Amino acid sequence: MIIVMKPGVPPKEIKEVMDRIKKMKLEPHLLKGTERNVIAVIGDERNLQRQPLEAIPGIESVMAVLKPYKLASRESKRENTVIQSGPMVIGGNKLAIIAGPCTVENQAMILQTGKSVKASGASALRGGAFKPRTSPYAFQGLKGAGLKFLADTRKQTGLPIVTEVLDPRDVEAVAKSADILQIGTRNMQNFELLKMAGKQPKPVLLKRGLAAGVEEWLMSAEYIMAQGNYQVILCERGIRTFNDYARNTLDLTVIPALKERTHLPVIVDPSHGTGKRSYVAPMAKAAIAVGADGLLLEVHPHPDRALIDGQQSLSLEEFAQLMKELAPVAAAVGRTI
Ligand code: PEP
Ligand code: MN
Repeated sequence: MIIVMKPGVPPKEIKEVMDRIKKMKLEPHLLKGTERNVIAVIGDERNLQRQPLEAIPGIESVMAVLKPYKLASRESKRENTVIQSGPMVIGGNKLAIIAGPCTVENQAMILQTGKSVKASGASALRGGAFKPRTSPYAFQGLKGAGLKFLADTRKQTGLPIVTEVLDPRDVEAVAKSADILQIGTRNMQNFELLKMAGKQPKPVLLKRGLAAGVEEWLMSAEYIMAQGNYQVILCERGIRTFNDYARNTLDLTVIPALKERTHLPVIVDPSHGTGKRSYVAPMAKAAIAVGADGLLLEVHPHPDRALIDGQQSLSLEEFAQLMKELAPVAAAVGRTI
């Protein structure tokens, strides 16, 4: 159920409505819009007493939300959600370009990458400190030291930091040093991790599961939002299909499909989506053309020597070149880079 407030209703009146909902043993979530605010009501809707609510003058309408994802749904909030992280805006007119290595390897390489991608126009720096590896014997990331190197690079470049968290027990520590918490493909349905990410204040970049449908993906976003953190960024990173020429199948149809169903911003990761360096730039351009709000790109100073995912990483120079080539594509769809 959603309660649409009339434009310009003062916060005191909104609070009164929220208090009334709590008294009905329901949970109110305030979804703020620039024009009007909406209160999404979660819980057993049989408890909702419509008539006394509809009599409140500040309320424009009370409506059912048919989708199972309530807070994430476009039905609940018509306007796009715009997320701010330091100087980066995700979901606005300007595209958010998040670039950096798959994993932080040492202090010098992350600093070098940060400075270079910043000079090329990136909006944020990515880099894994905790890595989800298929093999338990493979490099698992620098963990705490990696977080520190990322934070040092932020200090020197001003770029916000995006890094993955794998374990609910690490959420607090990662949220302290990072600006955006990434939840990876393998953890899209790790519900305890999603709940913890929903209890901390930093935005969450939620990647699509390897075989997740749109509804499952949005239900995972809902887990985070149900805890009160409405700052969720969805990231398409390719799914498993019978495709035998690329690491994954980058599903770009999902961008317009998501835009119809949710108000949350959507970005695309053509690095994991293709697994091959030569496919990254064409798919990055395609993603922007179909309406993505930004990109997550793997960039490394020496891709041939990268500890993880060198085969799909752009060099610093290739990233600089791609940024130039993205500008006219962005302009063609009314965006800036
Ligand atoms: C990554 O971004 O480095 C990563 C591990 O991504 P995914 O979860 O999409 O595999
Ligand atoms: Mn990677």
